[in-house]
Amino acid sequence: MDAARMHAASPESAAIVDAVLDYSRRRMLATDVPLDKPQTEAELRRLAGVTITDQGLGAPRALSVFEHILAPACLTTSHPAYLSFIPTAPTIAAMAFDLVVSASGLYGGSWLEGAGAVHAENEVLSWLAAEFGLPTTAGGVFVQGGTIGNLSALAAAREHARETALADGRALPPRWKLVCSIEAHSSNKSAARIMDVDVVAVPSGDDGKLHADAVRAALEEHGDAVFAVVATAGSTNFGIVDDLEGIAALKDEFDFWLHVDGAYGLTAMLAPEARAWFSGVERADSLIVDPHKWLFAPFDCCALLYRDPEHGRRAHTQHAEYLDTLTDTDAFSPSDYSIQLTRRPRGLPLWFSLATYGVDAYRSAVSATLALTRRIAEEISSRPELRLVRDPQLSVVVFEREGWERADYDRWSDELLQSQRALVVPSSHAGRTNTRFAILNPLTTFEELVGILDTMR
Ligand SMILES: *Cc1c(COP(=O)(O)O)cnc(C)c1O
Repeated sequence: MDAARMHAASPESAAIVDAVLDYSRRRMLATDVPLDKPQTEAELRRLAGVTITDQGLGAPRALSVFEHILAPACLTTSHPAYLSFIPTAPTIAAMAFDLVVSASGLYGGSWLEGAGAVHAENEVLSWLAAEFGLPTTAGGVFVQGGTIGNLSALAAAREHARETALADGRALPPRWKLVCSIEAHSSNKSAARIMDVDVVAVPSGDDGKLHADAVRAALEEHGDAVFAVVATAGSTNFGIVDDLEGIAALKDEFDFWLHVDGAYGLTAMLAPEARAWFSGVERADSLIVDPHKWLFAPFDCCALLYRDPEHGRRAHTQHAEYLDTLTDTDAFSPSDYSIQLTRRPRGLPLWFSLATYGVDAYRSAVSATLALTRRIAEEISSRPELRLVRDPQLSVVVFEREGWERADYDRWSDELLQSQRALVVPSSHAGRTNTRFAILNPLTTFEELVGILDTMR
């Protein structure tokens, strides 16, 4: 067997590339991709058979197994009726360019290896920083997702608190503490567990927002042990933005690192009518936003920004002899700013899409979704059998069906998926079952949502 067969440019290689590109082209441009649904492990094993063999199946058969057996067992998360969790909706340009990132073997960890790609990613990060009102010196890195983004930012915050305490000659607290709302995303609590720090979970108001007076009380009680306050710019459950302005103003009285978790919601700031809700974010010491959510990039991509990137670098640069040429320079290397070393330049699909369509197209897509959310919330309010759990702020609508128990929601949700109409799963709040629409796909229509509501009659 020719050892270079798998790597060489040859007619066989060309046929493989053509087959994969042809499939990708059809998939990206299809208008009728079904929602699809999971299969059991046993069923997949039966249908797909053994695919890893000594001799290989060949590309046509392997691709066929994928197209006809594996892909239909994966939900189409970009389907307009995929309305649970937080959907994704990559633009055509972003999806297509993701192929280029792979095709080019681009490495995005260091300036030495990926200067061009890193330059483009940094232009996107600078644009985001400007949108959010951060100083022009702000910077950061695209990481895998919000969970890694939050962990990386909080690790930098703790390192900063530790260095500051030592520089001031203060004793380190027996336990570091992270202040966040009880409604904060689970990834913040997960970060605290990994970092072995305590979480001070502050109750939110009846409106679901974390308010400044509650944060003030926590800061007064826990003092210098608090290394960071996390404010949420768009809760995942309800799409509610914390009182960022009030919380940020506490920085005038207390010395703390403000991290804004905007994984889902911070993108709404692109819509002029929503901007004011985020006032205060410009004082963040770090923030995240997930382009794989509302910035229409493919999985998986989180933008992590530091007000002063030096804090990220001090916490995260890896030192090793084989890396000396990378770390002994002033060149900007993305890997220095988060928990990762090897990285694909996962910000490039977003860069290409922004460069292709321009920012205005993004602003109007976000505005349209905010308007659709308000419209469907009014429709829900007008139906006697339905009740809004809270008025929506961004693009999540949470509502209850009068008289339904958990089992009713489960049955209804299963039927929606089995009939391939929609993915809408039960959720709960304060011990009561409900359901929610998380809307962000520009192809989702009012009529489609109304059709789903009609199935709850
Ligand atoms: C989705 C989300 C996260 C986690 O992001 P992943 O990309 O799923 O890791 C964190 N915080 C908020 C507010 C989110 O909506």
